[in-house]
Amino acid sequence: MNKKIIVAGGGHGGITCAMLLAKNGFDVTVYEKQSRENMGYDWTDIFDKKGFFAVGLDMPDKSMYKLKHDMTFYGPAMETALIQNTDPDKLEIQMERKTIYDYIILHAENAGVKFVYDCAVEEPLFFGNRVVGIRTAQGEFYADLVIDACGISSPLRKAMSASTGIQNNPIPYEQFYVYRAFFNKTAEVEETEKFRVILLAENKLGISWIDTEEEYTDVLIGRFEEFDLAEAERSIEKLRETNPSIGTEILRGGAFANIPVRQPLGIIVADGYAAIGDSAFMTVPIIGSGIANSFKASKILADTIIADKEGAYSAETLWSYQREFYKNIGASLAPLACVKLMLTRLEGSELDYIFAKGILNAEDMTIDSDSTSLGAMLGGMSAEDIKIKLSGLINNKAVLAKVIRMGLELAKATVVTAALPKTYNRKNVLRWVKEYNNCFKH
Ligand SMILES: Cc1cc2nc3c(=O)[nH]c(=O)nc-3n(C[C@H](O)[C@H](O)[C@H](O)COP(=O)(O)OP(=O)(O)OC[C@H]3O[C@@H](n4cnc5c(N)ncnc54)[C@H](O)[C@@H]3O)c2cc1C
Repeated sequence: MNKKIIVAGGGHGGITCAMLLAKNGFDVTVYEKQSRENMGYDWTDIFDKKGFFAVGLDMPDKSMYKLKHDMTFYGPAMETALIQNTDPDKLEIQMERKTIYDYIILHAENAGVKFVYDCAVEEPLFFGNRVVGIRTAQGEFYADLVIDACGISSPLRKAMSASTGIQNNPIPYEQFYVYRAFFNKTAEVEETEKFRVILLAENKLGISWIDTEEEYTDVLIGRFEEFDLAEAERSIEKLRETNPSIGTEILRGGAFANIPVRQPLGIIVADGYAAIGDSAFMTVPIIGSGIANSFKASKILADTIIADKEGAYSAETLWSYQREFYKNIGASLAPLACVKLMLTRLEGSELDYIFAKGILNAEDMTIDSDSTSLGAMLGGMSAEDIKIKLSGLINNKAVLAKVIRMGLELAKATVVTAALPKTYNRKNVLRWVKEYNNCFKH
């Protein structure tokens, strides 16, 4: 009999994993809390097109996406502009969130995946320590494996016991509270100013972006602390002083959401359970992109499940997903979480200093479609490069101390992440995850 797989939540990686499994004869059902029409936000996403290729999908029709604008980064004083200059072949694509869903759901349905909408997953069902199903608003459902694609607030991850080593909730400085709205466009802007990103805007911990498109101006306010609509409106009004393209009429969006901006979840598997996408915090810690990583992880997970011929789907047999995910994706995300932590310790004036002195320059901030070049920079910097960058900080002891602290944390996180146990042994895995989690303290 075909093995039964539940995908809890219609996250991107969950749907593409469902598609790959259904193509290989598995009986897969996705349980999604929203109606089909209400799935996904009313805004666009930027991501690496190679995510599609990882799961064997072709590029969607050209009418369904465009290339993103290069970004221009500022510190809060907005004095130094770091203008990206991405190789056009490496530019990420920009696609409507709802169009991404249309595309992957169509392929999943064609492969035989079943979708149950308007069905909120409430909690996992256990038999001993093993996850054997889900309790939902529409009743209980059982399966050989539950894939958790419920996103950052997953009720499944929250219910996993300490004995699995799975962290239930993000801690402070690990998620962005975001308000995003598309306003009517009220002015044209220079090409290099089309996509402005202001780090530590108004000296608050977070970012603001203003992306002036053809038909609208996309404004995002992201903070490490929760804020309300009145504060979002106040901030946007402040942005209007320096960004005349932001009108006052909201055309689309105008909603709050949360994005994980942290290292990936330490342990992503348990008996009868695997987490993917935002449930497993697979976003790039600094910029919060998670779609391509979710697609890429879904191929690794599907391969692991298909290779488990006995259908055990235990922490031991799913460990290959954990290993391959960390080798191919997680190991480069975890050090970036240390860079993010450093940014959360900087004063606005210190960031302005870093930009003004060229310690971070436009090249460092150029994000290509595979990773951030910040990641490449950190991985690929020679001792001489490091010396040159640090010498720029010699007159600012406070920033120098923060950068050195980051360097030490980053080195530790890299070593610990690489020491992920090769096989699953509960004692070793729990020891490893404790050390891993300890690398990322504010
Ligand atoms: C404002 C904003 C902008 C972003 N921009 C980008 C971007 O430009 N590029 C990029 O790559 N990423 C971006 N991201 C991140 C991206 O959304 C995620 O990383 C990516 O979608 C992977 O997450 P996911 O699909 O696993 O989870 P989600 O997108 O959270 O999807 C989870 C799904 O599960 C459903 N669900 C949740 N709870 C339950 C439940 N209890 N029962 C049943 N179903 C449930 C939800 O309705 C949803 O359909 C952005 C996120 C936000 C909030």
